Amino acid sequence: MKRQRILDQDLQRVLNEVHEVYADLSLRPTQRNCVRVKECCHFKLTGRTPYLTKGEALVAAKALRATGRTQLPENPTGACPLLDSASGNCLIYESRPFGCRTHFCAAAGGPYARREVIDLIRRLEAIDVDVAGSGPRLLQNAITDALANSSGGP
Ligand code: SF4
Repeated sequence: MKRQRILDQDLQRVLNEVHEVYADLSLRPTQRNCVRVKECCHFKLTGRTPYLTKGEALVAAKALRATGRTQLPENPTGACPLLDSASGNCLIYESRPFGCRTHFCAAAGGPYARREVIDLIRRLEAIDVDVAGSGPRLLQNAITDALANSSGGP
């Protein structure tokens, strides 16, 4: 399906709104602490892949472009394509999607319950509607489309 290309002036606003959601999440009182075990990045092992709203995908696409890449890398291990095979680190950690920020592994305290962050989920959903998204989509598909349907700017 051909997806609507987002205008640069709208893109900056959307990027800001999504980053505000991430910042508000980081202010939540929590017993959890990501210690970068990266277990959650190995989708084939966990059987779980994050789903992204369009705003999150646009943020991830911009961060990936900032690494000099214009396409989602391949990851033959079945891990997240954003898990760099050379360094073993997330290529976009500071811009990682909401699911990566809330699905803590057992070592990090366990995942957030949906009810704990439902207000933030609603904000991401509202942004998705605002940019003519089609709801949360599989990480690989959402970011591939975001790379294709937004420019490198602003
Ligand atoms: S986006 Fe980054 S943090 Fe999230 S699963 Fe992929 S490599 Fe891990």
